[in-house]
Amino acid sequence: MRFVVIGAGMAGVLSGIRLRQAGYEDWIVYEKGDSVGGTWRENTYPGLSCDVPSHIYSYAFEPNPDWSQRFSPGSEIRRYFEGVADKYGILPRIRFNEEVDRLEFEQGRWRITLKSGKRDEADVVIAATGVLHHPMVPEIPGLDSFAGACFHSARWDHSVPTEGKRVGVIGTGSTAIQITSALVPSTAKFSLFQRTPQWIAPQQNADYTDAEKASFRRDRVAFRKMADDLTRGFHETFSNGVVDAQSEQMKNLEALCRKNLDKSVKDPVLREKLRPNYRAACKRLIMSGDFYDAIQQPNAELVTEGIERIEPKGVRTKDGRLHELDVLVLATGFRVDRFLRPMKVRGRDGVDLEDVWKDRPNAYLSISIPGFPNLFMLNGPNGPVGNFSLITIADMQLHYVLQLVEELRAGRGREISASEPAMQRFSEEFDRAARNTIWATGCRSWYLDSRGVPAVWPFTYQRFTEEMARPVLANYELR
Ligand code: NAP
Repeated sequence: MRFVVIGAGMAGVLSGIRLRQAGYEDWIVYEKGDSVGGTWRENTYPGLSCDVPSHIYSYAFEPNPDWSQRFSPGSEIRRYFEGVADKYGILPRIRFNEEVDRLEFEQGRWRITLKSGKRDEADVVIAATGVLHHPMVPEIPGLDSFAGACFHSARWDHSVPTEGKRVGVIGTGSTAIQITSALVPSTAKFSLFQRTPQWIAPQQNADYTDAEKASFRRDRVAFRKMADDLTRGFHETFSNGVVDAQSEQMKNLEALCRKNLDKSVKDPVLREKLRPNYRAACKRLIMSGDFYDAIQQPNAELVTEGIERIEPKGVRTKDGRLHELDVLVLATGFRVDRFLRPMKVRGRDGVDLEDVWKDRPNAYLSISIPGFPNLFMLNGPNGPVGNFSLITIADMQLHYVLQLVEELRAGRGREISASEPAMQRFSEEFDRAARNTIWATGCRSWYLDSRGVPAVWPFTYQRFTEEMARPVLANYELR
């Protein structure tokens, strides 16, 4: 069987490794960029780090005793992925600067057309195309008229100096908060344009000492146990809490965030501007140990007036004030409803994915779409993406996918995809559960789909683990 993997980010590299371990030799990875790393290649903004502990945000088979910090910086994470791809011999199998344009299922095989015009074929396609991938550029009047440098946070222009400059950042998501902490100390003036305040959980990010790293290297069992304990603690306190808005975990989390705000911000006016009027973790929870300190610095300003328009000299807010800027950063997030798009995907009988997904993207267990056989998504729609280690998630999904593929290898059929009734049942149960989650308690966020229903895994982590352990073949159509 021939496999095509799309994307050489964390999940694409993992796919190559797992395919080889499963004994498949005929596979290739198409990557539109010029190197591996996905989101860690595209995001290079100042202050970039991962707020999932590094010892959890690692491949299970490649623990890294050398992480510099509990929450290591983005550049180090990118080097880690590059190192793993190299060590496991994945790089020669990646075709860089090749973007997949079309996927068409014809006569039992996927026909793949690349933007370069090249063509390929595969029995199985694994889409490892990422979630937070397509920058969301806001429609603010006059944006193009800005005379200084303006870019999205995921397209950071490192040729533009920020030191000693007047920098403005639009947005208060995880990205903007990290940028704020990193840039306030070196800019002349820093303006953070906040449309909605965010709850912020405290975070301590200690460096690992040489002695600690040596002990991780020496005692692999204890090292593994530490990572497992971190994972378990995280799931017990957070992952299982978010799916039940009434849970004790969510109440405790809110108290923690409130205390963090009350204790950290001295000026009562600023404190109230920073206080959200919705529940903690309704939006994707932010963790930061230095944001409140940064925004209280004399050169920092939290601008809460709405943005009227962008002008050549800066941002005009609705109170008529012009905030003059040299650099404007759009930390405005991503179009998370894209998934496989903009690729044009046609399944069995020429069915267009755009039509199937015209209301919203949907997939059985986040992996398979009825009528699109032998096409499997990693970190696809409705998956567990909120504050988890997506590496663990992708690995479990691959384990599951390879069991489906095993049905083909064993000759029990040539085409496998989720059945329509299974998709239907899953969607109904999903929607019911989604309404009980913390994400549905009244805030705007990228978790919500076009109907306002959270589009991320609304069940417990345990349930996800159980589902991924073994596919229920009765929920699949095998031809
Ligand atoms: P985001 O969470 O979607 O935040 C976008 C921000 O831009 C929001 O504050 C939003 O305001 C604001 N915004 C959007 N359009 C606007 C407009 N027209 N005018 C004014 N403000 C506007 O995006 P993000 O911060 O890039 O983060 C996305 C996700 O990436 C995170 O939730 C997280 O999952 C991931 N991430 C993870 C890490 C990590 O450490 N693991 C770090 C960075 C990002 P509203 O809130 O009012 O909509």
